[in-house]
Amino acid sequence: MNPLLAGSWKGLSPEWIGDGAVDVLIGEMPPQERAFVVETLQIIDSLCGVQVRLTSEPTAADLVVDDVASLGREEVQGLASWKGSQVHANWLSREMLYATVVTPQPPLRERYRRKGRWRTRLVKQPPLVEKQLGPWAKHLITHELLHGFGLNHPQGNGFSPAFSFATTQMSYRPDPAFSWSITPLDADALVAIWGPA
Ligand SMILES: [Zn+2]
Repeated sequence: MNPLLAGSWKGLSPEWIGDGAVDVLIGEMPPQERAFVVETLQIIDSLCGVQVRLTSEPTAADLVVDDVASLGREEVQGLASWKGSQVHANWLSREMLYATVVTPQPPLRERYRRKGRWRTRLVKQPPLVEKQLGPWAKHLITHELLHGFGLNHPQGNGFSPAFSFATTQMSYRPDPAFSWSITPLDADALVAIWGPA
């Protein structure tokens, strides 16, 4: 059996959903985070038989996805849990989730007039500074979303030494390559729950 199906699933199941579609409400979050959530939901939709639908109607949502200021426990950075009849997938929103990417910009050529003649000079441009989601944030978001679609930690234990991010995003153990992509084992577990794409 796929080790990610061990124990009780925290998340949604076809029996719960009934119509085979998961209606997802994405809370307010920075555009970089939202874009990554939408991209990851599309990948989940494409990998298995579940249909993911975005909704803006809170009562229609099966899964509510949001970043939060606090999860109530210091050591926890992300959490998936039932709230009433919905599954909530949350993670901490923190500056440290972002990597600042500085891209140098080429100088601009500017014309100017001196002593009655046109000349050109190069004018330095400030670098482009962008905030992008860091790899840890991407792992965290992917991990909580996969909980929302029914995946558990490998053999019910995120610290299991037999697994790492290289084999499943449901592990707590970083891999030197620090991959945040959904792995073949993750995809296999999604298919086991939701059927083939
Ligand atoms: Zn977890």
